[in-house]
Amino acid sequence: MKYISTRGQSPAQSFSEILLGGLAPDGGLYLPESYPHFSADDLTQMRGMNYRELAFAVLSRFATDIPATDLKAIIDKTYTAEVYCNVRDGENAADITPLHTLEPDLHLLCLSNGPTIAFKDMAMQLLGNLFEYVLAKAGQGINILGATSGDTGSSAEYAMRGKHGVNVFMLSPHGKMSRFQTAQMFSLQDENIFNIAVNGVFDDCQDIVKAVSNDHAFKAANKIGAVNSINWGRVAAQIVYYFKGYFAATDSNDQQVSFAVPSGNFGNVCAGHIARMMGLPIKHLVVATNENDVLDEFFRTGVYRPRGAANTYHTSSPSMDISKASNFERFVFDLVGRDGDKVRGLWNEVDNGGAFDLNADGVFAQVSTFGFQSGVSSHTHRMQTIRQTFETYGVMIDTHTADGLKVALEQREVGVPMLVLETALPAKFEDSIREALGRDPVRPASMNDLESLPQRFDVMDADVDAIKQFIVTKTA
Ligand SMILES: *Cc1c(COP(=O)(O)O)cnc(C)c1O
Repeated sequence: MKYISTRGQSPAQSFSEILLGGLAPDGGLYLPESYPHFSADDLTQMRGMNYRELAFAVLSRFATDIPATDLKAIIDKTYTAEVYCNVRDGENAADITPLHTLEPDLHLLCLSNGPTIAFKDMAMQLLGNLFEYVLAKAGQGINILGATSGDTGSSAEYAMRGKHGVNVFMLSPHGKMSRFQTAQMFSLQDENIFNIAVNGVFDDCQDIVKAVSNDHAFKAANKIGAVNSINWGRVAAQIVYYFKGYFAATDSNDQQVSFAVPSGNFGNVCAGHIARMMGLPIKHLVVATNENDVLDEFFRTGVYRPRGAANTYHTSSPSMDISKASNFERFVFDLVGRDGDKVRGLWNEVDNGGAFDLNADGVFAQVSTFGFQSGVSSHTHRMQTIRQTFETYGVMIDTHTADGLKVALEQREVGVPMLVLETALPAKFEDSIREALGRDPVRPASMNDLESLPQRFDVMDADVDAIKQFIVTKTA
């Protein structure tokens, strides 16, 4: 299996070759040159599989340059009940992504039982083990540099902690993350994890990462890399739980289901799109956004109009606060018939601060054949949905999952099971839960004393040269 760029001007590469990188050299995103397909017989066989077996069945079609025994070992050590242990009472950690039924044909697909209690652990934990494997084979190392306002950074650190050949330098705005998020990251004592608390705001952190990445000589000399949301390995790993959820919610492969996905950068729902292209009987993929509704606007109107910073809102589902949806380009590539020239033209507009409209030539009319629907949720909806879900089902959900459930209830059809992807546990967003329910969320037992653990971090000014020097010193 080779990977091609959505902008059509980069040479095809193997899975291992694109694993450590980000964008293709032409600025596009990598996708398989064609999607593997599961036949009815394949699906029948897969129905009985546990999570690890399913992950191998799916990922072995993508990571064809990793020997099967090695890939199997990597998957087997990643998806264990010990790693994904933060389940609700009554759920089985061995399921890895348990299905929690709210009422007949309405389920939560619980993806947030990993070490940082958010769905990003589903992919990031695999990525950590894949990185270690690929780097060891190549006799190389990598220094991951990132900026975080909380979620992605902690998931990356918990995935890369203690991994040979990998260091993580994670910039965060000093004093601006929640106590829980700060404790989650800064309590890591692993020597390959460097938390840098920057005197500034999140944008300052991101600007530093950009400045370092644009210094190509420094980047090459110091093996600077990233684990951002466009990483193909992350998308690939996320495909697996759509299969797992489908089999858990149905009795036979004649049935269709729909998934509702709280969306930001479009990575999660992009994996659902690919699962569907591979033959999984998905009726609808319901894209749920918060007030940052670029994606809903597109799926309603055919116009994709990324927002500037001034029109990007800070909301109570902060991990969906995006101005542009970085993985969206992957879906548009399929939508326009895999025409790289066309995608290059469209993103030429977007990258210059513009927008595009796909209504011409009947392109947007094709969207329905891909099963997409969408909807928006606001702060008021989140609070109502969290309250109603707790009162009706006795289940506490977080703000992002609440956005998904709100839109799922609007789009649900009789006779089609609806699976809402649970993208974080409520313990991660205590203030919002208190606002909605007037009480504290339950915390996984393993995290009860998190804030009292010793913390390890360096405070630095938002000074690019100083941070470069820090990286050089620590990796010398
Ligand atoms: C990252 C994240 C999302 C958005 O996922 P995308 O793949 O960016 O669409 C939703 N909810 C939570 C809790 C997240 O951390």
